[in-house]
Amino acid sequence: MRRPARSTSVVLALAVASSVIGTLGVANAEPRGSEKPKNNDIKNVIYLLGDGMGRTHVTAARERYYGADGELVMESLPAVGQVSTYAVEPMSGQPGAADFKPNYVTDSASAATAWSSGVKTYNAALGVDAKGKVVPTLMEYAKKAGLRTGNVSTAEITDATPAGQMSHALLRGCQGPTYSEAACQNTEITGSALPTSDVRVTPIADQIARNGTADVILGGGLARFDAEDEAALKKNGYTVLGSPASQTVATRGDLAAASSKKVFGLFNTGNLTIEKYKRENPSSVQAEEPSVAEMTKKAIALLSSGNKKGFYLQVEGALIDKRSHANDAAQTLEEMKAFDEAVRVARDFAKKDGHTLVIVTADHECAGFNIIEQGTFTNAEATVPPTNVDSGNTANNSTPTRTARGAKDPARSTGIVNGAGSADPNNFAPATFRTPDDPASVTDGSPEASLWLSYLSGNHTGADVPVFAYGKGSNKLADSIDNTDLFDIVGRALHLTK
Ligand SMILES: [Zn+2]
Repeated sequence: MRRPARSTSVVLALAVASSVIGTLGVANAEPRGSEKPKNNDIKNVIYLLGDGMGRTHVTAARERYYGADGELVMESLPAVGQVSTYAVEPMSGQPGAADFKPNYVTDSASAATAWSSGVKTYNAALGVDAKGKVVPTLMEYAKKAGLRTGNVSTAEITDATPAGQMSHALLRGCQGPTYSEAACQNTEITGSALPTSDVRVTPIADQIARNGTADVILGGGLARFDAEDEAALKKNGYTVLGSPASQTVATRGDLAAASSKKVFGLFNTGNLTIEKYKRENPSSVQAEEPSVAEMTKKAIALLSSGNKKGFYLQVEGALIDKRSHANDAAQTLEEMKAFDEAVRVARDFAKKDGHTLVIVTADHECAGFNIIEQGTFTNAEATVPPTNVDSGNTANNSTPTRTARGAKDPARSTGIVNGAGSADPNNFAPATFRTPDDPASVTDGSPEASLWLSYLSGNHTGADVPVFAYGKGSNKLADSIDNTDLFDIVGRALHLTK
């Protein structure tokens, strides 16, 4: 399944489509033509990704909430595979080309471009290849083909993952509301600055408010939009929940009342609020924000109502990544659970509907999340390297390049088992959590809790990520694939690409 380069037919389709993209970024993608869905065929794709969700995030959430013998909803999906996620350097060619230069650790922008547009690109790029050429997205193809489209995220809706489907930008930081040369221009790619009329330096919020790529837009990031954006959205037929003009955020109640085909609803001026805070502060304004499962359920209802042609919905659990960057395992685990509840909504719809492919994956792993043995800690905190002597076979001995430091790094060695801050479970690694397998008396943060978690760093890693799938064609995901293969699999399932 893993392939070194794009198939010729898709390269041609992309070339045709991208050559006719206007400055507003709407792709005149190839229509479906004669490839109509058949009776037992897939009409809808619900594509869910846990941002930063590596294999260990899944295992840790399973053990935390369902115990060693339990399973997350995503783990109940019949097809399971793994996805490579590497990015490329700026100005790199595609895999197989002489000027191909991989970067083994991706960011969310490059990853989103890989599955949205089927090309490898540099970190921070959205909807453009590594040389800055605009590449059409699956959501644009879907829209053009008459499917309904939706984009849901717990991040700002202008953030990399949702933006990858509905914008084209040289730099992901070009979010808006206003143009900024520092945030938008990338002369490493373009040589000289582009005119501000060029879509690639147009603030992402401006693009989203005007290009109509997603019919249903739910998430955070209201502060990225302004009065002009609100007017543009309304002109394009959207029901706007809350108000960008007055910076009034939408609420769960607004979402429940929404019934039109095109809905724009942002529930926080920034990222949405973590589930842990809402649970601990039930009367806060933040508790009025819908969960990712609630947004998913509503998006599916809006997109499927009276719809014979089908829909394409992307759903992101974004805070898994953001809280992993912060090395906060308690917040991360609750975000994993919340994302898994969105998977439940999608799976239950797909089971009833019979024409829906559900894909659950991630863009990259974040922070080298690990389940470590009870009573142990990470080598980042160790004063000496691990033992490297094999007494039964000295040929196996090694000479570590890292020698004993004599003292722990004071900034990193206050974990609960081996430092001066040992009484404070909020200190650095490891973090411990009880699971359903533990006796009732065991509490989170105690050394007796059975789930010990640690982090390698505060950044992304290059680990492959899991993929789970349900529905006709899901067997294509039960494989070792690359993130650009996701473009082909979804595109073909919806008859958007060859
Ligand atoms: Zn991240």
